[in-house]
Amino acid sequence: MTARSLHRTFLRSAAAHPERPALEVDGRVLTYAELRLRALAVAATLQARRPAEGPPLTAVLGQRSVEGFAGILGALCSGHGYVPLLPSMPPARIALMLERSRARCLVVDAAGARLLPEVLPRVPQALTVIGPDDVDEAPTEAPTESPTESWVEPSVGEDDIAYLLFTSGSTGQPKGVMVAHRNIARFLEVVTERYGLRPEDRFSHLFDVTFDLSLFDLFGAWSVGGCLCCPTGMQRLFPARYVDEAGLTVWFSVPSTALLMQQTHALEPGSLPGLRWSLFCGEALPMKVARAFAAAASNSVVENLYGPTELTLACTVHRLGPPDGGEDDGEVVPIGEPYPGMEARVVDESLREVAPGDSGELLMTGPQLALGYWDDPERTATAFVTLPGSGPGSEPEDHPGRTYYRTGDLVRRPREGEPLRFLGRIDSQIKLRGFRVELGEIEAALRQASGLPVAVALGWPVAAPGGAEAVVAFIDDATIDVNAVLERVAERLPSYMVPREIRVVDRFPLNANGKIDRNELRARLGAEPAGSQ
Ligand code: AMP
Repeated sequence: MTARSLHRTFLRSAAAHPERPALEVDGRVLTYAELRLRALAVAATLQARRPAEGPPLTAVLGQRSVEGFAGILGALCSGHGYVPLLPSMPPARIALMLERSRARCLVVDAAGARLLPEVLPRVPQALTVIGPDDVDEAPTEAPTESPTESWVEPSVGEDDIAYLLFTSGSTGQPKGVMVAHRNIARFLEVVTERYGLRPEDRFSHLFDVTFDLSLFDLFGAWSVGGCLCCPTGMQRLFPARYVDEAGLTVWFSVPSTALLMQQTHALEPGSLPGLRWSLFCGEALPMKVARAFAAAASNSVVENLYGPTELTLACTVHRLGPPDGGEDDGEVVPIGEPYPGMEARVVDESLREVAPGDSGELLMTGPQLALGYWDDPERTATAFVTLPGSGPGSEPEDHPGRTYYRTGDLVRRPREGEPLRFLGRIDSQIKLRGFRVELGEIEAALRQASGLPVAVALGWPVAAPGGAEAVVAFIDDATIDVNAVLERVAERLPSYMVPREIRVVDRFPLNANGKIDRNELRARLGAEPAGSQ
């Protein structure tokens, strides 16, 4: 038994705040005592029915339902890590993830149960499936009368997997990131202290549970006796209404959500007075969007968090200060400083540190470094690396043997006292007729020239891998004079970097995690008949 595990975190809060609301979903409010009983009922059922063989992982197929959340907590309380799956995913993808995880247990909510006829025949291994009907309605009386008497507190180690999260892989095969209890415990310790999270806090929940940022919502709330407030369908469409109606105090979303709010005039100054914290993560945060949100949530502090799943949600952070007067229109908010105990290095292609002020790939290590990729030692070895030292075959003198995660993100190595700045993806660097070009640089020029918070540049038509003949840009505002923008861009950039054309879309397509879907934009270009490009 260990103090630092997700299930213990929840159970401690449940013991301390049994009558406080833990979860609001589907118009229902569950107290900690009620949610605890439901979770332990699932855990007891799992412990009684699961096969002895197989990895200590339980998949949970559910979305924004009491059964889904109780499933996650139940999996954890049974001593397993959880593998989140969504009923909105294609059944073939759900089956693939079940197969890849080798999980032997699956907890489903009502929506998940409806998919089983399509999912189960595609899964090679036998599965113990626990549906809503398999778990007794948890009574609200004294715990001694509950079915949870048969629950046995599991022995969970800090290095055990807390969750296995599939992220898309560049080869098309999803990668399962293994995150240990000590990784997520560390993240929760940092944010709980930084934000002074407390039982009165009411947390937004705009992330799907398959996106690791959702763990902030769930376990940020459940670490301190706070309430996880799920939006209704309408509230998802009108997030400002959600803040007000749910009485949120802690906001956490991708910047695209704030951009949409800005575009739909939902960020009137002073209109979100209840928020204490306005937190963003997952993609670059345009300065204009951050400023608009800060003006609306005028009693809150705005922060830009940065991090990949492999470093446990977020590992650097920048607090938005007052405008300094010198901000340009194309600016994005810096990603700031590493979290306590996390170490950043900015390196060149041979993994040697670049000089302060130069750009390179961000590598990070520390207590939030995840365990690697499930069943995939090859990709783990490629992304989780040790650094070369000054002599052949040697390692850096200051940190011999440390493993760093290669983020694939291009950043500027800060000079003394400066924040880290995100410049783009290493892999969005393209060669344009031999010239080396960062699409992020073109996007910054477009933002500055148009005054828009977001513009997307793609290498198109695609030539050899990593190469393109030209650049096509996208904006989402039909009132902008695109020729004038191109002229202004041409004033800043060499001619080969100036987009061949700017296309206007009604709205940027978003991927499952709410980020702008560049692949979809590329697919739209590719779908056009030859000659129309
Ligand atoms: P994911 O693993 O899905 O969370 O995606 C991680 C990637 O999202 C990072 O490697 C970055 O490319 C991007 N990202 C996350 N947070 C930020 C941020 N604050 N600014 C810019 N990019 C970000």
